[in-house]
Amino acid sequence: MEEFSHQIYGCRKCRLWEGAKHAVPGEGPLDAKVMFVGQNPGADEDELGRPFVGRAGKYLTKTLNEYGIRREDVFITNIVKHVSPQNRKPFDDEVRACLPYLTAEINFIKPKIIVLLGASAKETLRIDGVEYIQVIHPSAAMRFTKMREKFRQQIGEVAKQIAAMQT
Ligand code: SF4
Repeated sequence: MEEFSHQIYGCRKCRLWEGAKHAVPGEGPLDAKVMFVGQNPGADEDELGRPFVGRAGKYLTKTLNEYGIRREDVFITNIVKHVSPQNRKPFDDEVRACLPYLTAEINFIKPKIIVLLGASAKETLRIDGVEYIQVIHPSAAMRFTKMREKFRQQIGEVAKQIAAMQT
């Protein structure tokens, strides 16, 4: 996995690396049963080279904790591994160029549950035998009360699925 991260650090397959400070590979235990997938890193993630460490990431971590899910037990990643200029949505060709890294992470970790954060994670590879759960993106949940309630319900469902998987 370390070698794989080095490939991402040195990747030049699309234009996004040019404006980024750091590549942001996924992080978490290699035997994680649950993987969270977002679209692309933001400014805080670019600064630290780690996924979901900005405000939305902290909100996600806090909500997971409230439902008994420890961030250190799950693998968190993004489809695209470099920040976009002005945090724009990655272009299709950038997503296509980067998608093999997510596919490799999924094949390596072999999660039982993949939680897709926001509609933008729809490009994520679907594999038989993996439970996919789509939830509202934490940044939207932070901003809008109605979405926050829904997001909390959805994370509650994720927690139930994890509990069911362990019985
Ligand atoms: S965004 Fe992905 S494909 Fe593009 S340079 Fe970075 S790692 Fe490579």
